[in-house]
This record gives sequence, structure tokens and C-alpha cells, in this order.
Amino acid sequence: MKAKVTVDMATRVKNLPPYLFASIDMMKQEAKAKGVDVIDMSIGDPDQPTPSHIVEAMQSAVANPDHHRYPSYEGMLSFREAVSVWYKSRFGAVLDPRTEVLSLIGSKEGIGHIPLAFVDPGDHVLVPSPGYPVYPVSTLFAGGQVQLMPLTEQNGYLPDFSAVPETVLKNSKLMFLNYPNNPTSALATKGFYEDVIKIAAKYNIIVCHDAAYSEIYYDGKKPLSFMEIDGAKEVGIEFHSLSKTYNMTGWRIGFAVGNRDVLAGLGKIKSNLDSGVFQAVQEASIVALKTDESVLSGIRNVYQQRRDALYEGLRGLGMELTKPGASFYLWTKVPGGYDSAGFVAHLLDKAGVLATPGNGFGAPGEGYVRFALTVTVDRTKEAVERIGKIL
Ligand SMILES: *Cc1c(COP(=O)(O)O)cnc(C)c1O
Repeated sequence: MKAKVTVDMATRVKNLPPYLFASIDMMKQEAKAKGVDVIDMSIGDPDQPTPSHIVEAMQSAVANPDHHRYPSYEGMLSFREAVSVWYKSRFGAVLDPRTEVLSLIGSKEGIGHIPLAFVDPGDHVLVPSPGYPVYPVSTLFAGGQVQLMPLTEQNGYLPDFSAVPETVLKNSKLMFLNYPNNPTSALATKGFYEDVIKIAAKYNIIVCHDAAYSEIYYDGKKPLSFMEIDGAKEVGIEFHSLSKTYNMTGWRIGFAVGNRDVLAGLGKIKSNLDSGVFQAVQEASIVALKTDESVLSGIRNVYQQRRDALYEGLRGLGMELTKPGASFYLWTKVPGGYDSAGFVAHLLDKAGVLATPGNGFGAPGEGYVRFALTVTVDRTKEAVERIGKIL
């Protein structure tokens, strides 16, 4: 008999909650195996292809042997310059490409690593809930203590800092925020960001704002960047991504901008763990960041038509929801008699429509489901029709 090791996971892995989308994917596979024609509105992954001018830039960049070697850790200067130019033209924010821009292998990578740079075991991290699951998990991996800030309909899905105990604020090292928000699709105001800056400065808390959805907006109303608020660079950074803006989720490129000392800390972790972003991807991303406004408004327009179809449709069925001003999600109250998981199971079972249970993003999301606008208008209308038959 061969000797064998006992594979015993580390405590940090054993303590992880089940990855939300793994269990949803299992439900989907089971339904499909039964022959159900599933309309999948559960995952926030754009269904449209990357615009062809970006793909063509990649095709020529990949043939250049200069790009076949290790890239620089912080990103090519030309890429960081393109980010700086984009931030200036889109938000009016001034960033030094040498010290205030850092490339990331997708923003998820940076969000996942940042607590390792700043959080010691026992330090508190303020995390919005419901929210992107990576914020609490990266906190736990660093040994930090997660302090949830509930986002509720009553507070406009903005954390209420007056509800956070003074002792928690004093022990907090870092705060995650995300607007336009996933999953609630809420937007932040200038006044809110100004409050964030005051709190952060008073209690010495590094602000990590995630702006992944800043370019998916409706009715011509552009969301703010945290970086356009006076004083933001003194207290924190902003994570950004090409994934949602340019339909590039598979390419794995994002960036962080803002406070140079915070970026230097994140850079230190990264230089010990990864070796940067494939330069051909950076070259294509420079082209992406210069994309003509008409292409982007075309992408937004597709989402807006789906948003209108789903919003009007669900409202017509008597469901309670607010019309999103940005992001590609609809955050919807579940009808009476159901909890989030029960309603999602009922939708899949009886209508073949897959949504994400709100409590999967944190306990305060109980009583809601999230629909992603990642299927065509026709499929969206069909989903509404099917849901109408089972309500
Ligand atoms: C999609 C998403 C990201 C991650 O995007 P990357 O592809 O890793 O750049 C980050 N934050 C939120 C809230 C997201 O929904």
C-alpha cells in the first residue's frame, strides 16, 4: 500500500463561506440536465463581445516579441499614462502616471491583495453589506476582523457612519466602498464622498473605492469617481477595471489609482506574488481606453433597452424595485411568502429563470434578488412572461 498524506485545509479555507456562484452554477447545471431552457440572469459577466478594434490591437501586439518577456510589476508607463489621460478627461482628476497609477490583473486581484499590505491580525475592516464577496474574504485572509456596514433601502444603500460604534472606527484600518453599487445599483453623491473623506481622515482609515461600474450608466447621467472629490487622494485609492466598460472580463486587466503610499503598499505585495499583466493585453487596453464615445454609448444603449424591458416588465407584475441609474443589475424585493433562496429556487424550478439570491451578498440582502442584464431584450421579455405565469 502506498503512503498517503491527509489533505487537511487551513483554517482560513475551512472558515470560508461557500463561493456564491459555485452553488448557483450547480443549480443551473441540474436544471439544464433536466432539459430546462434556462434564462441565466445570475452572473454579472457581459454577454457582448469585446469591440473589434480592441481585439485587432491585441492581435498585432501578441505578435511583437518585446511583449513575450516578463512585464514590469507596476505596468507599462504607456498604459499608466493612458489611464491618467482617461481619468483626466472622464473625471477631471489629475494622477501622476508614475506614482499614482498601478496596473492589476483585474481589479479583483487588487481587492483581494490590498488587506495583506495594511491589515494586521485583529485590525478592523469596514465592509459594505450586501456587497462584492471579495471584500470580506480578502479581509479574513489577512487575519482582519470584518465589520459589516449594512446597506438598506432606508439609507439609500449608503453606509450610515453614525451607526458604526466609535471603538470600531478607531480600530479600523481600511474601508471598502463600491459605487455604482453591485448588487443594489445605488449611486453615491458628492456629499456622501465628502463625509467619507472626513471620517477617514479623523479615524485614519484607508478608503478603497471600487468603481468597476462607473461607465455603465443610463439616461446620460454619469456617475462620480471618488477621485474627483477634493481630498480623496489624501485618504485612499480607487479600483477600476476594463472588464465591464469594454466587455473585457476574460482579459484580466484593471488598475488602481490615487494615494501613492497606499499604491506602493499594494505594489509591494504584488511584486512578491505576481509578475504583472501580459504586455500585449496592456497594449490593447491603451487602445481600449481611447475608444470612441459612440462605441461606448452603443454598449450602454444595449443595457438601457434591457433595463427598461425588465424594469417595466417586473413592475407590471407588481414587483417592488427601483430603476437603476447605473450598473447592469436590478435589485428586486422578493414577493411576500418567500425568502431570497426560496424565491430563486421557485423562479428556476417553475420559470427556468436564474437570479442571484440577495443574501448571498451578505445578510442585509435577505428579502431581495439580483437580476443581471446580460441576456438580450427578447430573452428578458420572455423571462418576464415566464415569471408572470408563476407569481
Ligand atoms: C466585476 C466586479 C469587479 C471585478 O472586476 P475584474 O474583472 O476583476 O476587474 C470588481 N468589483 C465589483 C463590484 C464587480 O462587480
